[in-house]
Amino acid sequence: MFILPKLNYDYDALEPYVDAKTMEIHYSKHHQTYIDNLNNVLGKYPTLQRMSGEEIVKNLNTLEVSEEDRKKIRNHGGGFVNHSLFWEMMAPKKEVDEKLLTNITATFGSLDEFKKLFTAAATSQFGSGWAWLVTDENNQLKVYSTANQDSPLTLGHTPLIALDVWEHAYYLKYQNRRGDYIENWWNVLKLI
Ligand code: MN
Repeated sequence: MFILPKLNYDYDALEPYVDAKTMEIHYSKHHQTYIDNLNNVLGKYPTLQRMSGEEIVKNLNTLEVSEEDRKKIRNHGGGFVNHSLFWEMMAPKKEVDEKLLTNITATFGSLDEFKKLFTAAATSQFGSGWAWLVTDENNQLKVYSTANQDSPLTLGHTPLIALDVWEHAYYLKYQNRRGDYIENWWNVLKLI
């Protein structure tokens, strides 16, 4: 049985960039529902219950499950793992990862160039999804977006920075203004 991971800050800690009501609903309702649905699917697969959420998502394509259940695990397992990571990388105060910052600058030329690329990926993701900074199979930094709850882990990549661009992540405060949400979000990204 997977459970909601602890949130290391209060719902209002990321105000005014991410509002308290959005945090509360996003964490206690949306994230919880992904976990409940994942637990439901895994009910008939005792072997999978002994794996971590990350391992399940990483091995999604080779799990011994029905195709219908693979689709459910893709959506709800992805939702579980992606949100767990998302809460972790936000904070009211910066705790800059100097090594990551150095790698970003070396790969993309500057922090600003990286932010431009990442923002473009987040803005142009059509419909629901996520923007990512990952290390790929050759340990190179890459920026891209995925649809729905698809995780870079399934592609063999390691996610370093994640941004949820589902409407549920911003609609209460920003309505249709995804661009404003993305621009403000850099203020609560802890790592850079
Ligand atoms: Mn979400």
